[in-house]
Amino acid sequence: MTPGLFETVSQFPWYGWLAVASGLGLVGYTIAHLSGRWHGFAIAGCLLLAAPTSWFTYRNVSIERRMTEVARRFTGDPTVWVNCAGMFDELPHLGKAGWAQVVDPGTGAEAHLKAEQCDALRSWLGGSPSSAASFDEMLALHVYVHEIVHLSGVLDEAQTDCTAMQRTAEVARLFGGSDAWRTAGAALAARYFAEVYPRMPDAYRSTECRPGGRLDRTPADGRFP
Ligand SMILES: [Zn+2]
Repeated sequence: MTPGLFETVSQFPWYGWLAVASGLGLVGYTIAHLSGRWHGFAIAGCLLLAAPTSWFTYRNVSIERRMTEVARRFTGDPTVWVNCAGMFDELPHLGKAGWAQVVDPGTGAEAHLKAEQCDALRSWLGGSPSSAASFDEMLALHVYVHEIVHLSGVLDEAQTDCTAMQRTAEVARLFGGSDAWRTAGAALAARYFAEVYPRMPDAYRSTECRPGGRLDRTPADGRFP
């Protein structure tokens, strides 16, 4: 379920291709330089371009691959992809935390997170499960789970948000690989339910999203989310 090299490269952002081009330029000019021609300025220029674009591409690709792998295990669909949006991608979706383009399952549906949410998720995953999460990290994790619930084929917003809260612990476990992460995820879901959920727009809420309600996935256990 881990995205392959070809698939990863095909998802490169524009600066990823700039990194590739300047890297090729660097190789070409260095070969020309070593064979006796002076290409010092061209080498320096390519290096100046290649270094930051490669770094940002690496950052982008590593979190996208990690989010995609977890989304594939969560949905059981090996064709989904989770993307960190660039600024131009975000323009038609201003004001939204994230969005998913859900086509039919199995056809490469994509979920999109804003760049700042990818940063917050990266920062949360880079810490330890026992360290206190920021509000932004809590929200980023929730938005991520919300979008991959969409990728699993649920389209209704209220049902999606309610399911997301109840599956956050499981997703945190998939990311971190231990029960300490599951516990940390459960705590963040409880925080979202207490602090954010009551303020969500009507379309995202349901009176059935409560302990023992119709949207409670485990109505008998007395625990929620
Ligand atoms: Zn949604």
